[in-house]
Amino acid sequence: MSTDADLTTGNDVTAAHGEVADRVNLLGLTREQLQVLCARLGSKPFRARQLMHWLYKRGCDRFDQMSDLALEFRALLAERAGIRLPEIVSQQQASDGTRKWLLRADQSQAFEMVYIPESDRGTLCISSQVGCALDCAFCATAQQGFNRNLSTAEIVGQVWLARRELGFEPAGDRIITNVVLMGMGEPLANFRNVVPALRIFLDDLGFDLSRRRVTLSTSGLVPQIHRLAQEINVALAVSLHAPDDELRSQLVPINRVHPIAELLEACWHYIDEQNGRSVTFEYVMLDQVNDSPAQARELARLLAGHPAKVNLIPFNPYPGSRFRRSSEAAIGQFRDLLLRGGVMATVRRTRGDDIDAACGQLVGRVTDRTVVRLGSRVEAARIRVAGASV
Ligand code: SAH
Repeated sequence: MSTDADLTTGNDVTAAHGEVADRVNLLGLTREQLQVLCARLGSKPFRARQLMHWLYKRGCDRFDQMSDLALEFRALLAERAGIRLPEIVSQQQASDGTRKWLLRADQSQAFEMVYIPESDRGTLCISSQVGCALDCAFCATAQQGFNRNLSTAEIVGQVWLARRELGFEPAGDRIITNVVLMGMGEPLANFRNVVPALRIFLDDLGFDLSRRRVTLSTSGLVPQIHRLAQEINVALAVSLHAPDDELRSQLVPINRVHPIAELLEACWHYIDEQNGRSVTFEYVMLDQVNDSPAQARELARLLAGHPAKVNLIPFNPYPGSRFRRSSEAAIGQFRDLLLRGGVMATVRRTRGDDIDAACGQLVGRVTDRTVVRLGSRVEAARIRVAGASV
């Protein structure tokens, strides 16, 4: 995999957006790609280890501070490479401690990341695209349309930046214990840039995160789930949101291309291939749309006996959203019916909603967009569901 072409992987987008095209951004390179770069610069491949140590263990973004690298090599690096981070446009902190950063992708584009502190862990929720093309009926990001994929360096740069913002931990307690690709975008629609970023998250010379603590959430791009199973082992979350194809096709339009049976088959295959524990199925709780006892039972029938757990997400409203959140009683009953039906189920606690940092509320800033909406291409996106106007 260590070809010359690989060196540009993940940096192609950055270059196309006005950065110095011939100066490779080190944050977009996996360990193997860094080794190729070092060799190409006439240095020993093991220098890649030292570079990664500075980048990821020490949180250093300046070649002149990398004191155990030869001066000549540092000069060469400064000439031929760079360490470029997304720029922070603004940040907000919610009353519950959740923090949200707006990051600049380029002159008119921005995307968001969110840090969620809990007593036993710290979760960073990162974006994989500016906007999203999947057009899920209840998601604020979908309203923005799709602009572009983030580069590997921009995806890795989010974790790097968040660690700096939160104070790089020299040892001991980790501030970021979990990374979830649940921010803006559909990660599997940006497969080429997301997979190298995942490798850097897991690499012990990189962020050294446990594979069970890196979660990729997808709306259900079946061929890419199969590809992912061959490439890398991370926790998989799937946005299911409905127990039957008719409703799911309305809520998550990609279902018209890859219906539930096909999706579930890909999930079980992923678990088999990766020796995983279970797939987490996300299920947004929409009042009188997908939250009835009958639907809970149907969902339990679909998943019981499989390596599955369900995470119920109370719907987070945003300006212009046409859904309502299910009542607490309905959510509790839905969970109980799943448990009774033999399916592990939890309710996701809403975090950061006073700064619009909760699931589905991330909108970043997308202007000059080329709106490509898969849903509208497959079929008309305006559908009426059980009295709720979608
Ligand atoms: N594109 C990925 C990541 C999306 S965000 C995916 O579809 O899985 C993570 C989760 O939040 C997804 O399950 C998504 O469907 C859900 N979500 C989107 N909008 C929401 C909203 N307004 N309220 C609650 N959850 C929402």
